[in-house]
Amino acid sequence: GRNFFVGGNWKCNGITEEVKKIVNVLNAAADVPPKEKLEVVISPPFVFLPHVKSSLRQDFSLAAQNAWVRKGGAFTGEISAEMLVDLGIPWVILGHSERRLLLKESNEFVAEKVAYALSQGLKVIVCIGETLEQRESGQALIVVAEQLKAISGKVSDWGNIVLAYEPVWAIGTGKVATPAQAQEVHADLRKWLKSHINPKVAETVRIIYGGSVTSANCIELAGQPDVDGFLVGGASLKPEFIDILKASL
Ligand code: 13P
Repeated sequence: GRNFFVGGNWKCNGITEEVKKIVNVLNAAADVPPKEKLEVVISPPFVFLPHVKSSLRQDFSLAAQNAWVRKGGAFTGEISAEMLVDLGIPWVILGHSERRLLLKESNEFVAEKVAYALSQGLKVIVCIGETLEQRESGQALIVVAEQLKAISGKVSDWGNIVLAYEPVWAIGTGKVATPAQAQEVHADLRKWLKSHINPKVAETVRIIYGGSVTSANCIELAGQPDVDGFLVGGASLKPEFIDILKASL
């Protein structure tokens, strides 16, 4: 079966004192399922990666929140995949809707980033999801299929990819997708992978849900057959994140 996966995306939050506090809470958490059952990946802002890497418990892993699209060079303000590999950061989140929408990252650009990060040996959490307008006009499945198609056009090995379905209308809004809504899209994504890539990829790729996940709604969501974990924003900064880590128990 697919190993449950929970990512904590801190986004652009935290200063040193807060980061230390969150790490302390994570390190003190007891009864977190073992690595073989649950993969936990924490994603602090770039500048805190070295500190968190040296202070975080060994059974939790780390992700950067972005990476430059190609090899580093004269790209002021960017961070390259090579740098992340050099620091020993195994994962990177790419294609988050905040970057797609606020920073105008296109499907093609995100796909290029995914391919480059994989080529450098990083594992990738790639985010897809529709806006409220797209959902209301019945386009949700078309939109996520287009996002997937761009990625599949540039990627052949899906072994190091986790797919995060994050409907934009659910992110930071408190309007979580219902378990049925999440399951419907996840099942559809799997169907897409089956017909456009192959059955093995469809069966093994983890599809995690993100958008207003809390300790109150995580258990029901985790019970859906095609929900393999979560990408948690706001709640990953709070002690309730520990309860979310136990959602699959
Ligand atoms: P929230 O959990 O704050 O809604 O954010 C979800 C998200 O965007 C995770 O990447």
